[in-house]
Amino acid sequence: MKPIKGLIFDLDYTLYDESRYFLAVIKEFSKKHNFSHEQFWDFFSYENRIKSKDILGDILRSADRYNEAYHEELFNLYRSITVSLELYKGADDILKLAPKNGIKTAIITNGNVQVQKNKIRCLGINERIETIVCARELGSAFDKPHPLPFLTCIKKMGLSSDEVFYIGDNPTVDMVGASKVEIPGILITHDHFKSEIPDCSAKYIVSNFHDLKTLLFNGQPDED
Ligand SMILES: [Mg+2]
Repeated sequence: MKPIKGLIFDLDYTLYDESRYFLAVIKEFSKKHNFSHEQFWDFFSYENRIKSKDILGDILRSADRYNEAYHEELFNLYRSITVSLELYKGADDILKLAPKNGIKTAIITNGNVQVQKNKIRCLGINERIETIVCARELGSAFDKPHPLPFLTCIKKMGLSSDEVFYIGDNPTVDMVGASKVEIPGILITHDHFKSEIPDCSAKYIVSNFHDLKTLLFNGQPDED
C-alpha cells in the first residue's frame, strides 16, 4: 500500500451519534402536539435505525400515531431542524491531524440530500471537510454500497483507491461498498454491536476515534 493521502468518512454513526439528531426531531414534533416524546423514542435504537426502510414512519407506527400528515411533518423537521450536534469524541483530533500530515478528508453519505446537508450544517464541519459526496445526488440507484459514490469521491480528491482509507460503521453499506472498489475499509464500531460483529470485508476494526488515531498516526499528539 502507498502512503495514505486521504481519509474518507461515512457520516451517520461514524462521525457523530445520529440518535441525537433524531431525538431533537422527535422532541420538537412532540412539543408541538403536546405528546410525550418517550412514546416514540422507545422504539428508536441503532439496530432499528439501520434495519428500517422508513424510520420516521416506523417511529409513528410504534406509538400507534401514524398518519400521512404527521409523517410529512416529521420529515420536514428531519430535513430542516437546527440543532447543535457534536462529533464523536476524538474525531476532532483526527480532522486536525489529517491536514498537518498532508492527508485530505472527505465524506460519502447515503440518504436524502437535503437531510444529509442539514446534518453537516448542524455539525458545523462544512469548511473542515474538503470533499463531500452525497450518493443520492448521483441518482437514487447509487447509494452505497454501489461503487459509484466511492469512485466519484476518490476522483474528486485526485487520489487512487490504494492511497485512501474508508471509515464507516456499517459492515455492509460501508465495508462491502469500499471493498468493491478496493479501498481498504476501517470499521468503527462505537460499541454499537450488542453481539458479535457481523462478518465483513474491513481491513481493520476499531472501537472509537482514539483507536483510529493510534492506528493512523501512531498516537501522535495534537499540537493545538
Ligand atoms: Mg453510518
